[in-house]
Amino acid sequence: MKMKGFGTIVHGESVGFIEKDIPEPGEFEALMEPVVIAPCTSDVHIAFEQGHNDARNHRILGHESVGRIVKLGAGCKEYKVGDIVVVPCTTPNWRTLEVQDGAYQHSGGLCQGMRIGTSQDGVMAEYYLVNDVEMNTAKIPEGVSLESALMVSDMMTTGFHGVELAGVEFGDNVVVIGTGPVGLMAIVAAKLRGAARIIAVGSRSRCVELAKQYGASDVVNYKDGDIYEQIMYLTGGKKVDRTVIAGGGTEQLPIAYKLTRPAGGIGDLVAADTPPRLNIDTADFCRFVAHHRLAGGLCPGGRRRAERLLGLIQYGRVDPSLMLTHKCYGLDGCKDSFEMMRNKTDELIKPIVYMNV
Ligand code: NDP
Ligand code: ZN
Repeated sequence: MKMKGFGTIVHGESVGFIEKDIPEPGEFEALMEPVVIAPCTSDVHIAFEQGHNDARNHRILGHESVGRIVKLGAGCKEYKVGDIVVVPCTTPNWRTLEVQDGAYQHSGGLCQGMRIGTSQDGVMAEYYLVNDVEMNTAKIPEGVSLESALMVSDMMTTGFHGVELAGVEFGDNVVVIGTGPVGLMAIVAAKLRGAARIIAVGSRSRCVELAKQYGASDVVNYKDGDIYEQIMYLTGGKKVDRTVIAGGGTEQLPIAYKLTRPAGGIGDLVAADTPPRLNIDTADFCRFVAHHRLAGGLCPGGRRRAERLLGLIQYGRVDPSLMLTHKCYGLDGCKDSFEMMRNKTDELIKPIVYMNV
């Protein structure tokens, strides 16, 4: 039996519709049909950037989904066919040694915990597989909409991770570089962790408005000039406690160092490869002896993580559905929404694609 999906035809060159065999779920796996999905900025990076990679040819894209279980593989005990679950974009293989090192995002190799839409076919399809479904996905609690639940899959877990990586604490002054959906969720997370001042960096108007609604105290437009100078003007020359990088390219790293006080924290979410090399002034890095803590990370997955984030939505701590600005439908909608991510307008924050509601 065949199915259709939307994905990378030739990595770095072309995307389009692809026909494949419907996969068969193995042990602990589930075959899912997508209920709602969202395209990610990373889908564009995965299809067109990150070096030349033939393994990405003929690969169905998409890693953000709420799905319905169509068929369960051997060993699944708790879930049943027809259950609707949030599928986090990172679905580790929990039976790997990396998990015992606390690096489950890298189970089976560097960044291999994120497999859906990268090393295995993604969610922009009629069907897709989820490995270890009962450990990697979560049921949606009462009172949580499909739209909000969908945002747990990547945007919420990633944005919140930025704040965890930076180590935000009560009363911290925090910079969040980027007011796309990841940066917006980092702003929410910084507020929930008790940040005092939250300075957001972005330009598109709808994102900036929502950044303020979610808790940004100030917004700096990077198109108006040097970010460091603009932020130092706002703080009276005082460096901030923490910086989360959720936008821009590799060049944000030295900026984040310069912005952050000695012994402060930097959480990097951008898989920086543009530009591929940095020509840095070591003075910007305080010659590497200022006890800065820099941590870059891939979005956390796992059922417990998703359940905790869903709890924050259920009890009214965050409404991530406010980020959904555009609606698309079906497989054609996967293509349309991908194109929206490639050419972001002023009005776009995040599209949702209704597939099998
Ligand atoms: P968006 O493109 O929606 O947002 C990026 C933000 O960065 C925008 O606010 C943009 O401004 C801003 N920006 C762009 N260029 C610069 C610059 N030179 N200086 C400062 N700010 C700049 O992306 P997302 O929110 O969807 O994702 C953010 C990043 O996180 C992406 O790189 C994505 O690939 C990555 N990501 C990482 C994950 C992980 O696991 N680590 C998971 C998911 C995403 P403007 O308002 O002008 O658009
Ligand atoms: Zn993503």
